[in-house]
Amino acid sequence: MKKFDAIVIGGGMVGAATACGLAMQQQRVAMIDPVSPAPFDPSLDPDLRLSAFSLASGKLLQQLGAWPLIEQMRLTPYTELQTWESGMTQRLTFDCEQINQPQLGWMIENRLVQLALWQRCEQLGVAIFPWQDWQLDQSHSEFVSVQSGGEQLMGKLVVGADGANSRVRQQAGIGVSGWDYRQRCLSMNVKFTTPISSVTWQEFHPSGPRALLPLYDNYGALIWYDKSATIKQLQKLSAANLKAQIEKAFPKLESDFELLDWASFPLVRRHAQRYIQGRIILAGDSAHTIHPLAGQGVNIGFKDVAQLLKLAHEYEGQNVSVWGGQYQRCRKADNLMMQSTMDLLYKSFSHPHPAVAAVRKLGLQLAQNSGALKKQALRYAVGV
Ligand SMILES: Cc1cc2nc3c(=O)[nH]c(=O)nc-3n(C[C@H](O)[C@H](O)[C@H](O)COP(=O)(O)OP(=O)(O)OC[C@H]3O[C@@H](n4cnc5c(N)ncnc54)[C@H](O)[C@@H]3O)c2cc1C
Repeated sequence: MKKFDAIVIGGGMVGAATACGLAMQQQRVAMIDPVSPAPFDPSLDPDLRLSAFSLASGKLLQQLGAWPLIEQMRLTPYTELQTWESGMTQRLTFDCEQINQPQLGWMIENRLVQLALWQRCEQLGVAIFPWQDWQLDQSHSEFVSVQSGGEQLMGKLVVGADGANSRVRQQAGIGVSGWDYRQRCLSMNVKFTTPISSVTWQEFHPSGPRALLPLYDNYGALIWYDKSATIKQLQKLSAANLKAQIEKAFPKLESDFELLDWASFPLVRRHAQRYIQGRIILAGDSAHTIHPLAGQGVNIGFKDVAQLLKLAHEYEGQNVSVWGGQYQRCRKADNLMMQSTMDLLYKSFSHPHPAVAAVRKLGLQLAQNSGALKKQALRYAVGV
């Protein structure tokens, strides 16, 4: 039987960040995850799973000491975000200069962020257990036990960060509400023949947005959201045929490109009914999944981590029941607002009615010229 202050279940980006942060507060921490991130190999093409990290997420990774490790691998700053509706000339542009920042954020492969955080966990003495099948036992008042095979860990706090299909959430008996968007997202890595700009953009179509994420060394990611059936058909095409479809469906790209790799992901919105149950707390995708059109999923997960670490520090040594309610109130409301904003965007841009289209056009014009309000929205999105 091994005793810990905290046991983090799931060592994805959110779980590993939580484990690091708690270990930096001198807590004895265990992290459970059956899959460790593969080592960095600079000769390989970028992974398909990558995210746009906000300035606030960059700050958290700095505080956790993971940022220099990520910089030693690779990341791509982006300086401008443009969005528009297909067939319309009006663009909504967000520029880092509007908020006096050198960039709006960074495109980074998820695995590299996770890898840097695992390296920090090892440096900080986090005990890592490669378990997949474990059982939670909450019958003791002083601790939660996690058992696998003949082994048992005891923790005063258990953080469930085991992703969208969280087993922690299920074993804690926490329900979820949500829906399937009946859409998929096709993520395609490409290599351009000439350098492209550091602008990320999104073009809205009634069937879903299409987007470009710029990456290092002429690489980029093209993202295509559409009905599940359409995406599944596209996914089966040969590289040459899929490239031909991209050329028809996307706006003209800055340069010719080679299509390297592609995969699709289902889009599901979920929200846990509670973030806390006894000594168990949920964070990241185990608590919420969101439409990825504005690239906020891991960023709101990192906001959970920042809040959890802040409260754990403020209430050092105290039972999670003292501060868990505060964590839930703060994070649930913020995450719900972000989920609802994404849904509003998604629904309004996919609505074909001409009256809605006219309101949309007016909305884009107003937003583009809204000055202080636009700056405020941008500050909220990037977290400064
Ligand atoms: C198509 C798409 C594009 C996206 N783009 C962006 C973007 O641009 N920006 C952004 O911010 N977000 C984006 N997201 C969301 C982002 O990828 C997720 O929010 C983020 O990966 C969640 O991290 P997490 O650590 O909470 O969960 P996960 O990354 O799912 O990690 C969960 C961890 O738990 C482990 N685990 C699972 N089961 C068990 C078990 N039984 N026991 C122990 N461990 C277990 C897994 O091995 C894994 O390491 C996107 C999502 C999708 C689907």
